[in-house]
Amino acid sequence: MVAAYSVHRLTKRYPGGVTASDNLSFDVQQGEIFGILGPNGAGKSTLVRQMVGLTRPSSGGIRLFGKQIRPHDALVRRSVSFLAQSPLALLDLTVKEAVAYTGMLRGLSPQQAERSAQALLDELGIGDRARRVIGRMSGGEHRLAGLAAALAADPPVLILDEPTNELDPVIRSRVWNLLERRRRAGSTIVLVTHNVLEAERVVDRVAIMARGRIAAIGTPEALKRQLRLQVSLELTGATAAVLGVARELGDVRDAASGKVRVRVGGNLGAALQRLADPAVFSGLESLRVLHPSLEDVYLSIHGQPEEAGDDRAV
Ligand code: ADP
Repeated sequence: MVAAYSVHRLTKRYPGGVTASDNLSFDVQQGEIFGILGPNGAGKSTLVRQMVGLTRPSSGGIRLFGKQIRPHDALVRRSVSFLAQSPLALLDLTVKEAVAYTGMLRGLSPQQAERSAQALLDELGIGDRARRVIGRMSGGEHRLAGLAAALAADPPVLILDEPTNELDPVIRSRVWNLLERRRRAGSTIVLVTHNVLEAERVVDRVAIMARGRIAAIGTPEALKRQLRLQVSLELTGATAAVLGVARELGDVRDAASGKVRVRVGGNLGAALQRLADPAVFSGLESLRVLHPSLEDVYLSIHGQPEEAGDDRAV
């Protein structure tokens, strides 16, 4: 099966000397959720803007279903729906009108567009707000309206730039479930995000970008294996004796929070044996074995994220 996207030696240099895409090559397979992760400035937006024909590459090329794309390409317009960071411009329309019009632009009849718009808004849990004017909605509702418009008429490829920004956790999880259903129905989804924890739940494969390059690419499982990141132990109730052993075992993280996290690499057995020493064990409240996460892979490339926030694993 031909890849949905085939990116080949893609390079974008901006005037002023920044190379925002530096010789990128990768495929996005049909029917997968492909994550693009990376901190601000890594080159994610520049990459997706080229994938939708809004920015012209300096060199290299992008094929969509096997065909080379050009700026403002009709093939891209027909097949790819792009949810950008910037809010929906259709401020004077109601949510339902915006979604239905987008559906019609993509070839649905007015009746089909109307029906599918309502179904989509119901699926996103904002069916009751279908007649609200977009310009008067909150940031999160505005984002959902944009997402509903992006999903109108079921485009084969969805490129979503931070689709769950500003959404509360309940709605966020509804959005992920909906995208999962779309994927099962055959959609290809490219997801740009810097929320590593959310990405791990939904992506099939991920590219982690750094300074215009792909620092790592693969399934989350393969990336964890490649980087040889192995289990950590999380200890609470740490006494001086426990802390001493933890330091001996490897790098200790987050000691300040009252939890001690030790990356034990391949030495789990030896680590557990050290902790089983009664003098150490008696001071321990709890002990958890943590398998490596995509966040560990990300941190091994980028160090501590700027926006650690509440989403950190520890
Ligand atoms: P991200 O989406 O990961 O935050 P961007 O693709 O927006 O990254 O930016 C990558 C780099 O390219 C940054 O150094 C940014 O300053 C630069 N850049 C982005 N857009 C332009 C532009 N239009 N002109 C010049 N430099 C740009």
